[in-house]
Amino acid sequence: MNPWIAKAVILAASVVMVAIRAPHGQRSRGVKVVESRRGTLETALLSVAWLGFFVPLIWIASPVFSCAEYPLHIGPLVAGVACFVAGLWLFHRSHTDLGTNWSITLEVREQHRLVTHGVYRSVRHPMYAALLLYSVGQALVLPNWLAGPSYLVAFAVLFAFRVRAEERMMLEQFGDEYAAYMAQTKRLVPGLW
Ligand code: SAH
Repeated sequence: MNPWIAKAVILAASVVMVAIRAPHGQRSRGVKVVESRRGTLETALLSVAWLGFFVPLIWIASPVFSCAEYPLHIGPLVAGVACFVAGLWLFHRSHTDLGTNWSITLEVREQHRLVTHGVYRSVRHPMYAALLLYSVGQALVLPNWLAGPSYLVAFAVLFAFRVRAEERMMLEQFGDEYAAYMAQTKRLVPGLW
């Protein structure tokens, strides 16, 4: 199949992702941060995440990764588009449910509330589950051994180094309320893990 199909799908998914986040980012900027855990590790993790997000866009625009190209097939393309749709839906839902409590990094905002409704009823980290679905979609759709899995690798690094620190911060902030929420929910996959 023509790789331009993959390029169009990746570009469309990236634009939708940025469009979903943009209004929430703008609104959150207006809410004061009362505590930030953004240290060197967090800054490094955010840089890795941005890099993982931009590599596919570089693949679209330039031949720099051409040595790692492979043919695009219909099966992975369809499965990847399904992951993109599910991931972007969950990304939208989790942003809506989290509202002004959202931050791109580990922060507590003024009047921060513990969100346990909507998609947060099913898992503790639906936004990370959304990013996982999105990055698996990208690995399936993008026919290049380097650029295809770049966001998946970046997400895995971010998740592995951040999730415990985030839960520790939430436990310190919300105490028993978060401990009870942890006891009721799994991290990423409802009922499993
Ligand atoms: N880990 C969550 C949120 C990612 S955004 C998810 O995957 O859906 C990261 C910020 O969200 C953290 O800095 C924290 O302040 C906030 N946060 C995480 N879980 C929350 C919750 N259940 N309620 C309110 N804020 C939360």
